[in-house]
Amino acid sequence: CGVFGVFGHPAAAEVTYYALIALQHRGQEAAGIASTADGRMYSHRGLGLLTDVFADVPLQRLPGRAAIGHVRYSTAGSNTVQNAQPIVVGTHQGNLALAHNGNLVNARQLRIELEKQGSLFQSTSDTEVVLHLIARAGRGSLVENIQAALRQVVGGYALVFLSDDALIAVRDPHGLRPLALGRLGDAWAVASESCAFETIGATFVRDVEPGEMILVDERGLRTIPPAARVPKRLCTFEHIYFARPDSDIDGWNVHAIRKQLGRILARKHPAQGDIVIGVPDSSISAAAGFAEASGIPLEMGLVKNRYIARTFIQPSQELRDAGVRLKLNAVRSVVDGRRVVLIDDSIVRGTTSRRIVQLLREAGATEVHVRIASPPYKSTCHYGIDTSSKGQLVAASHTVEEIRELIGADSLAFLTVDELMSAFGFAPGSAYPFCNACFTGAYPTPVHDMEKLANET
Ligand code: 5GP
Ligand code: SF4
Ligand code: MG
Repeated sequence: CGVFGVFGHPAAAEVTYYALIALQHRGQEAAGIASTADGRMYSHRGLGLLTDVFADVPLQRLPGRAAIGHVRYSTAGSNTVQNAQPIVVGTHQGNLALAHNGNLVNARQLRIELEKQGSLFQSTSDTEVVLHLIARAGRGSLVENIQAALRQVVGGYALVFLSDDALIAVRDPHGLRPLALGRLGDAWAVASESCAFETIGATFVRDVEPGEMILVDERGLRTIPPAARVPKRLCTFEHIYFARPDSDIDGWNVHAIRKQLGRILARKHPAQGDIVIGVPDSSISAAAGFAEASGIPLEMGLVKNRYIARTFIQPSQELRDAGVRLKLNAVRSVVDGRRVVLIDDSIVRGTTSRRIVQLLREAGATEVHVRIASPPYKSTCHYGIDTSSKGQLVAASHTVEEIRELIGADSLAFLTVDELMSAFGFAPGSAYPFCNACFTGAYPTPVHDMEKLANET
């Protein structure tokens, strides 16, 4: 998902709308905005792309100088309008809206306990649990109640709250999910990715630190450091695939990292070919790096229909299967009679790679050598990036050679975790400030609840 918030701007909802347009790649299933003015909360949310959700709703219906917004990619809870965000509730302390990116691994346990104590839930999303915990926390200030609630949750999150008089943003203790702070004139803004700031003419100030809470109200900005520090574990997949190439996350530009991954692939896992092709859009940077380091020319051998949303994000396998055919075409005049080195960012289920190899062969490629700019994806993500259960992950049950066979490639190679980390400048085997759990199975938090769930599905 993508989250955004702004405080102190006369057109807060409008700013939020354009920022969410820049974050739309982070989720296309639902979207929404909430704003506050004079002690009242205004909100609108719905299923689909932001432009569809707001097609018939003028932004003037969301008045005020503070607003938050969300674009949703469902990892927990089904894709219904009840699960769209921001979630808005009335509490004894006033109105509260919440937008959440990430996933809480103990949400189910907490929910069962809360329901036993009489809480009623409107949605199936894990986010609502946080609001109930805040409401339960009792007599403290809003900040104290949020802190009390967050002491009970485990997982990866970037949370953006809007109350009647403040904007509050929190990044999870490990910094699994990204969150950035920006300045727009006198207003402050927070966003999942810095590309949102470029879009609205704001300047990127810095990343929100792991475990840090940012509070903005009429008195200005205040930062509340974490009570205890735990090792930083940024999700590597933000850089590998999820984020936009023009974003900077925790000090690294996404495009620059992907290009470096491509260079490392070319050095460590070379391939003989006439042309290098990247799978659009997320693998173009890595393909450019591979071409540069190998001397093999980069070509545009695949064209993407830009009006079709990311296939992965469509919920069912049937839709995904149909989506891939609609999404990509091979350029016959480029590919015909050539040995192709195909660069992709990752293999999750393996269906995308198989189709693309097939497309290239149908367009006349004589050989297809696949190089993947990440390690084999073997373990389920519990922190909000990927919805696959272990049984769907091709690398969980197949060797590299078996995957090569399955996708019909002439050769196949992946990066190792150490090679991946070297793109960020880390020496092999050092203590990496990243989550690599989907490659290594070493989760930065306990995942008890989720492993039980994963085995059931
Ligand atoms: P699959 O192997 O599952 O058929 O497709 C993998 C492709 O899906 C990759 O090329 C990647 O660009 C794309 N993809 C879309 N969403 C995600 C995601 O959430 N995680 C990962 N790892 N890849 C994704
Ligand atoms: Fe990111 Fe993988 Fe960790 Fe999930 S398990 S947060 S996708 S690195
Ligand atoms: Mg891809």
